[in-house]
Amino acid sequence: MKTVTYSKNIFLPVTDLCRNRCGYCSFRRDAKDAHLLSRSNAMQLLEAGSHMGCSEALFTMGESPWTVSGFKEILSSAGVADLMDYLVELFELAIEFGLLPHTNAGLLEEDDLRRLQPYNASMGLMLETTAELYVHASSPGKRPPSRLEYISLAGRLHIPFTTGILVGIGESWQDRLEAMAAIAELHRTFGHIQEVIIQPLDPKPKTLLAGSPSPKMADLCWTVEAARRILPAEVAVQVPPNLADPRPLLASGASDLGGISPLTADGINPERPWPSEVELHNSLSGYELRERLPVYPRFIALGWHGKKTRSLVASLAGMDGLRAKKYII
Ligand code: SF4
Repeated sequence: MKTVTYSKNIFLPVTDLCRNRCGYCSFRRDAKDAHLLSRSNAMQLLEAGSHMGCSEALFTMGESPWTVSGFKEILSSAGVADLMDYLVELFELAIEFGLLPHTNAGLLEEDDLRRLQPYNASMGLMLETTAELYVHASSPGKRPPSRLEYISLAGRLHIPFTTGILVGIGESWQDRLEAMAAIAELHRTFGHIQEVIIQPLDPKPKTLLAGSPSPKMADLCWTVEAARRILPAEVAVQVPPNLADPRPLLASGASDLGGISPLTADGINPERPWPSEVELHNSLSGYELRERLPVYPRFIALGWHGKKTRSLVASLAGMDGLRAKKYII
C-alpha cells in the first residue's frame, strides 16, 4: 500500500507587508493596512495548536518588509526593535509549546538565514518558475536567478528545504519542465530538497490573474507525472489537498499533502478550507496515510534539522522518523 504523508500545522503570518507585487497575490498589504503578528496572538495560536496536536508552526511573511516605507513604524508600535530578533523570540515560543518552526520568509541575507536556521526544523522558498513572467514584473524578489541562488545557499548550509512551482501563472509547459530540472539539479548538488510543491493557481479577485482559469486536473496530473520523472526519487512531490482533489494527483505520482491545519486557514488561499484528517482518511482509502513532522525522516537521520529543535524532534518522531502515533508533549 502506498504511503501518503502530511503534517499538522498552524499558520503564523508574521507580517503581510511585502516589497513585491505578484499578479496573483491577495496576501500582501500596503503599509497602511499591514500588520505584525503580535506576541499575544502568536501565543494564543501556539497554545491552541499544541492542544490540537499540531507539530508544525508555519511562519510566513512578505518579502523584505524592512525595505518598505512604513515598516519601522509598524515594528515600533508593536514594541519590536528588530524583526530577526522577534522571529527568534517567536520560534523559541513555538518550541516551548511543542511545535517545530518551518519558515518561509522570502529571500534573506546569508547572515539572517544562518541566524534563523538553528530554530527551524526545515525552511522553504517557492521557486515558482524559472521564466521571466509578466505576473512578476513588479516583484524584484521573484527574479529566478535570485531564487535559485537562495535555494543553493540553503543547500550549502544543510537546511532541509521545501520548494515548489506555481502552475497557471502564465508559464509554458517547457517553463515548468525547466523549473523542475533546476530544482533537481540543486538537489543533486546539495542533497537538501525534501519536497517539491506543485501548486495550482487559485485566482483571486482584484488581482492581475483574477480572470484566469485554474489549471485543469489533467494538466496538473501531467505536471505531477513530469515532476516525478525529473526529480530524484527521494524528493517527495507534494499537492495541496485544499486546492485540487488529491486522488488523481496521488495516482500520478504525488506522495505528500503538505501541511493541513485543524486550527488556521490556508493563509495564502483562505477561501479554500483544509480537509480534516478524518476526511482525508475516508477519501484516501487504499493509501496508508501517515502524519510526518515538518522535517523528513532522512534529514533527521542526518541531523540537518536546526539544533534548537533536536530534543523536540526526538520526542515527536517515531522509530521511522515520521510522527509518533502517540502525542507526547
Ligand atoms: S512575494 Fe509573496 S506576499 Fe509578496 S506579493 Fe508575492 S506572493 Fe504576495
